Amino acid sequence: MEYIVGVDIGTGSVKAVAVDLSGKSFETNQQHYSFQSPKPDYHEQDAEEIWLSFQKCLQETIHKIGHQPKAIGLSAAMHSLILVDDDGNALSRMITWADNRSAAIAKKLKNSNEGLAIYQATGTPIHAMSPLCKLLWLKENDQENFNNTHKFISIKEYIWFKLYAEFVVDYSIASCTGLFDLETLTWNAPALALAGIEPSRLSEPVPTDYCSHKALRNMTFLKQDIPIIIGASDGCLANLGCMAYQPGQSVMTIGTSGAVRIASKKPLPNAAAMTFSYILDKDTYICGGPINNGGITLQWWLTTHDDDNPGDQEFDAFFEQVQQTPAGSNGLLFLPYLTGERAPIWDSESCGTFFGVRLSHKNRHFSRALLEGICYAMKDVLEAVEVNTEPIKQIYISGGFVKSEVWVQMLADITGKELVIVQTDDASAIGAAFLAMKSLNLIHVYPKVAAGELEIFKPNPALRDHYLKNFAVFRKLYIDLKETMHEVYLLN
Ligand code: ADP
Repeated sequence: MEYIVGVDIGTGSVKAVAVDLSGKSFETNQQHYSFQSPKPDYHEQDAEEIWLSFQKCLQETIHKIGHQPKAIGLSAAMHSLILVDDDGNALSRMITWADNRSAAIAKKLKNSNEGLAIYQATGTPIHAMSPLCKLLWLKENDQENFNNTHKFISIKEYIWFKLYAEFVVDYSIASCTGLFDLETLTWNAPALALAGIEPSRLSEPVPTDYCSHKALRNMTFLKQDIPIIIGASDGCLANLGCMAYQPGQSVMTIGTSGAVRIASKKPLPNAAAMTFSYILDKDTYICGGPINNGGITLQWWLTTHDDDNPGDQEFDAFFEQVQQTPAGSNGLLFLPYLTGERAPIWDSESCGTFFGVRLSHKNRHFSRALLEGICYAMKDVLEAVEVNTEPIKQIYISGGFVKSEVWVQMLADITGKELVIVQTDDASAIGAAFLAMKSLNLIHVYPKVAAGELEIFKPNPALRDHYLKNFAVFRKLYIDLKETMHEVYLLN
């Protein structure tokens, strides 16, 4: 059987998914890696460890299937920054999207006209996650490394250099650096001037269907003329993998973090909520907003009494508790900003808060309020995204949370939207495989959802008013507590 492998180089792991030419996934593999946090706000990874995991994951997948794929497509996490020499060797650890060290720089830039103009031109929110803010931080705080760097690249460029000894970056990954002009598809001069770098210190931007003609290196287990399609970012490819790439189609993902994304023919800037506009391919932008505190919030709650990572048993017990508790958690509310928050409040100094606690509240009320808080945060982003579009009726969903029917139904009830599960394998890896198939003309149109394969969750109308009232209080709570949260941040 002919097949393509999509590989998604994520934050916590690399995932490979084998997909046949009808678009069905039939084999998956995953390799986990670590992160380091040497100081508060720092979030770093070892690029070499990720490269080794990438090789292993791909090799094992092909070995399990027993014959070579027709092609490989790549997806990668956004916003990473690695400083390399001219042989592609890392000069320090990779700084990930979750790194917050440039928060103060981002805050200042965000409130300036210069920052606003760069946001409008690049489509990337002004935030510590963006490579632009990371470069500004390095220029001010680590001049020696900054000056000695040959190129500033992302994890996908690092891996691509290992494969083909060339520094190129796909338009999609470039479009989430805060340095790339969405209109001209070249590096944005004002952003580079601000960062203090020439275009030669970045890779050459290429379309997302790019395939190198150079000799493949370091992959002896692969047939040496195999086409590898550079692909796009994980966020954009999650839409494609969920088959939601037509204008107006949208996806909500809750994994470790979360996001709401809608496909569009043009960028959809919203300066108030600083939504993003990233490139999927020459005809499609994926626009939306990210939250920091998705599944990580639940992970935190389940490890407050026990350091071990929760397994299926712990998750089952948690969702059982949630189900035994009334919607609205008897007036207990939770703001999930445990790691600060991105869209729509963009406040690195916000914090998690339980509010309205009474003697009658049991542990299960806290559990339910916690899950409701994550869903309110997703609704908050959804409303910011809907400012620029037709109201969204149906939303495709992806990420680890789809394993729980209770959680998915709660998100449907709180957002008031119909939610649809297309598939449970990694949507970004599947999207990378689809993009590779189309680039190589193995298919002429992307696979479509077969109606019988959909699992649909409809919102319960009986809960609508109750949740709308609670959501209004959720929003007001942040506004009322914002200043105090900032004072508390300084106490930390
Ligand atoms: P990543 O974004 O790191 O790829 P995933 O998409 O794998 O993350 O999602 C991980 C999240 O999924 C966890 O943080 C957890 O909240 C949630 N999760 C994991 N297992 C379950 C489960 N059995 N039921 C519900 N949610 C789960």
